Amino acid sequence: MAKILCVLYDDPVDGYPATYARDDLPVISRYPDGQTLPTPAGIDFTPGHLLGSVTGELGLRSYLESAGHTLVVTSDKEGPDSVFERELVDADVVISQPFWPAYLTPERIAKARNLKLAVTAGIGSDHVDLAAAIDAGITVAEVTYCNSISVAEHVVMMILGLVRNYIPSYQIVVDGGWNIADAVSRSYDLEGMQVGTVAAGRIGLAVLRRLAPFDVRLHYTDRHRLPADVEEELGLTFHASTQEMVPHLDVVTINAPLHPETEGLFGDKLLGTMKRGAYLINTARGKIADRDAIVRALESGQLAGYAGDVWYPQPAPADHPWRSMPHHGMTPHISGSSLSAQARYAAGTREILESWFSGTPIRDEYLIVDGGKLAGTGAHSYSTR
Ligand code: NDP
Repeated sequence: MAKILCVLYDDPVDGYPATYARDDLPVISRYPDGQTLPTPAGIDFTPGHLLGSVTGELGLRSYLESAGHTLVVTSDKEGPDSVFERELVDADVVISQPFWPAYLTPERIAKARNLKLAVTAGIGSDHVDLAAAIDAGITVAEVTYCNSISVAEHVVMMILGLVRNYIPSYQIVVDGGWNIADAVSRSYDLEGMQVGTVAAGRIGLAVLRRLAPFDVRLHYTDRHRLPADVEEELGLTFHASTQEMVPHLDVVTINAPLHPETEGLFGDKLLGTMKRGAYLINTARGKIADRDAIVRALESGQLAGYAGDVWYPQPAPADHPWRSMPHHGMTPHISGSSLSAQARYAAGTREILESWFSGTPIRDEYLIVDGGKLAGTGAHSYSTR
């Protein structure tokens, strides 16, 4: 029987919800590319309930315990005295979410002698040192597509929020004010702007599709080019590299995974090549942008705004400069953890566990590392060097 160690974010400060704002979720059966939603044999939770926090337990407890497994759920994940570090020593499976990542460093992987499977309840397994997982023969899987549309919606919201100066205008209302000039002196229309995405995978392409009706000029760069009919349908301009693309853009959205090719990509040098007053939206991973270079670019006016929901480390410390820099629209890491997304990634996590325990293959699209190498989606989108 296995020990499953699950690291989830804390419950709401006022306690686990007794009621919800809405009674149901829309039924979606397929993702835009035709991939089916998770297909576990069963679920023991109510879609639309809070599943990603400690009390929610991803709805896994009765399934796992009825099969004789042990489930340990904690939010305490930092430092040598944390519950995570203590329980990791004999865990067979670790489940973690990017929103509250249990960093699986080479040192922790070395200590976790029984660890065979690391599941990301969400998308983005960069909190696992993939090279160390490969060396240790650990399988890494994530719930591909579960929150891609959730993030794409957040990106569109953040682009509009920055360009139209929504957050400061809202604050004027909350503060009892009415100075129109204060609100509009940084407010523009998105229409006609040059907007581009770094990566046009599931999220990046969904962002492009959602922005097309705003009558913007759309651009992208990616390691693989999109089919010609998609480029034509959306009027896309392809660029061979991020460096070549960004000087043309008014708005840049980052939708690439964090891996050695993308870490620190948006530093002083690249930011200095952007149009003065460009907007940068990063919901991919905090480390793709250089923390202090972003602050400098906002202070100098090189960037007119920066928004996103990804930080390093997470949770971000109280004095993280992205909390107080000018013209930002940051949120905590929430875009991929809407109640809608939680229902999908809880079901996807259950599907992965059912496959694992029954010895049947995990869906190829969920695999990041398997059999000592990058596999499935991981082989397509990640690198280890
Ligand atoms: P996909 O795998 O569908 O797409 C990733 C795309 O990035 C692929 O098209 C890949 O190219 C491309 N890519 C990889 N490296 C580069 C590079 N150096 N330059 C340009 N393009 C590159 O993933 P998703 O769209 O679903 O997710 C993307 C990322 O978004 C995740 O890895 C994760 O970090 C983040 N994310 C954030 C969430 C949040 O809550 N904020 C939630 C979910 C994801 P190709 O495959 O063509 O090689």
